[in-house]
Amino acid sequence: MGKNNKRGQLVVISGPSGGGKSTVITEVRNQRSGLCFSVSYTTREPRQNEENGVQYNFVSRETFLQMIEQERFVEYACYQGNYYGTSKDAVDRLLEEGKDVLLDIEVQGAAAIRKLYPEAALIFLTPPSFHELERRLRGRHSESEEVIQGRLARAREEYLQIPMYHYLVINDKVADAAGEILAIMKAQDCRVSARLDMIKEDISL
Ligand code: 5GP
Repeated sequence: MGKNNKRGQLVVISGPSGGGKSTVITEVRNQRSGLCFSVSYTTREPRQNEENGVQYNFVSRETFLQMIEQERFVEYACYQGNYYGTSKDAVDRLLEEGKDVLLDIEVQGAAAIRKLYPEAALIFLTPPSFHELERRLRGRHSESEEVIQGRLARAREEYLQIPMYHYLVINDKVADAAGEILAIMKAQDCRVSARLDMIKEDISL
């Protein structure tokens, strides 16, 4: 474990694809040093600006299915016809080393993490409106109309799961949304369960 035997904190961010989640996450990572982003595995094709091992580990369906069998995922889900999964080893190792870990995963994955890691903070990040989500999705110019419609329909389903989350952040301005997520992480740092170790010599619990 890391300094003060402190286990790292786990933060889950979900939200409709195309809503500007990656931009906000990049801003959060720039401002909170030492925050680790867990690079997921996926069977989806890389987009133009994506690099293997950076945004995702891009693998074949066959490899992904093998990894499921080998129980290599802490959670995985099928989203718009592709598999996405979080590496169990990577997350547990980082938390054990006292590092904070951020997961960008969809709602089924978030539900699984909530069960397995009850101390995790679950944040739902959404654009200010559906109209704005549609505008952002179209602005990306990387997907067909069919994919865009699929993502909008999926977003509607995901909104039904918002009550499962602990926090709701509206992504109107990137800096404000990132600021709220950083504030949530700061509050998580101050939880009694995260800090008791720091004063264990002063108290006998
Ligand atoms: P995209 O294809 O737009 O990169 O991602 C599609 C969705 O998959 C997003 O909602 C993203 O949060 C989610 N996602 C990415 N990695 C994982 C993962 O490891 N597990 C789960 N359950 N969802 C993921």
